[in-house]
Amino acid sequence: MPNKYQLVFLGSLLVAFSFLVALFHLIKAKLAAAGYHVSHLILLGLPEHTMSDQLSNANINFLAPAPVIAAVTAIILISLVYFTTARKPRSKPLDPNAWKEYPLAKKTQISPNTAIYRFKLPRADDVLNLPTGQHISVSAELNGKLVARSYTPISNHENSGYFDLLIKSYEKGNISRHIAGLNIGDKLRVKGPKGQFVYSPNLTGGLSMIAGGTGITPMYQILRSVLKNPDDKTRVNLIYANVNHEDILLRSELDKLAQTHADRFTLYYVLNNPPSGWNGGTGFVTKEHIKQFLPNPAENNSKLLICGPPPMVAAMKKNLADLEYPVPRTISKLEDQVRVI
Ligand SMILES: Cc1cc2nc3c(=O)[nH]c(=O)nc-3n(C[C@H](O)[C@H](O)[C@H](O)COP(=O)(O)OP(=O)(O)OC[C@H]3O[C@@H](n4cnc5c(N)ncnc54)[C@H](O)[C@@H]3O)c2cc1C
Repeated sequence: MPNKYQLVFLGSLLVAFSFLVALFHLIKAKLAAAGYHVSHLILLGLPEHTMSDQLSNANINFLAPAPVIAAVTAIILISLVYFTTARKPRSKPLDPNAWKEYPLAKKTQISPNTAIYRFKLPRADDVLNLPTGQHISVSAELNGKLVARSYTPISNHENSGYFDLLIKSYEKGNISRHIAGLNIGDKLRVKGPKGQFVYSPNLTGGLSMIAGGTGITPMYQILRSVLKNPDDKTRVNLIYANVNHEDILLRSELDKLAQTHADRFTLYYVLNNPPSGWNGGTGFVTKEHIKQFLPNPAENNSKLLICGPPPMVAAMKKNLADLEYPVPRTISKLEDQVRVI
């Protein structure tokens, strides 16, 4: 679908072309009235003796201003295109150093405490352009204090004009509760991109992931980027932990990815309170789960990413240490094999 500027450009080309065609037909008609057929003129030219006297006698003086009219039209059209497209540089939706505000356009409740919030970007063809692996900061002034938290949009580069945040709100939460209280049209303050980790295709041979609750959003962003790119040969193994069955976020999207890319992606759910007949893991994510599904990054070319609530992250660090897997540093570097997002 062409954008606004491409449409203006196409429109101006069409107008210019139509103008030239109309001018040609007008000239043709006037020459025909003066006794000349335009195809003869093009192929043979005028007989020399008729050039000056006959043409000057003929009623074709109207042609004199034609070049001026054509030039003026071209200048108007070029100016139109220039002023509508190139006049001011477009500001990017995200700035790492400045807060920008975007209005809530839509809220889709997916459970009593979780919703997808769609925020509108200024132009229909704007994209957030968040590098894969990075997130945004969201801030609000709450009780006179500026509070900021990280969120990873679940929309991607292919979604223009908006971005979507999947947010679970906590009763005592600050930003999550603030967002849950927004009405359509209320603005949210965002800044970014943020984060040390930037994923690029084939960065590593394999990606192992442990996600808990809303910690799935950064993993989902990376997962989609890996799997939609046929040139990216990275294998991905994800362990996704939740308390209850209904807490599993993006379930249908994840299941679909696992089915479509069975050769490159394995998915293992773990639930604290599984329903009857559950065939995933139960309880917390254990050393055995990790050993069974996630290869030791020290022994093969892979990286392990962890994102979840702090108690879960602490428990995973201990599990990794017990298994003699590399453990994440407090502040990770891109080359680290294990990191907390
Ligand atoms: C890289 C990154 C990406 C993230 N992406 C998302 C995302 O896409 N969606 C999303 O919903 N969150 C995401 N988070 C988590 C998010 O940043 C906040 O931590 C979360 O929304 C809670 O913030 P808050 O201000 O509402 O609560 P806080 O002010 O941090 O906490 C206040 C109270 O809320 C309760 N609370 C807060 N967090 C939890 C929890 N995990 N479990 C139980 N109770 C809790 C506790 O009672 C706590 O004392 C991400 C975090 C990171 C680091």
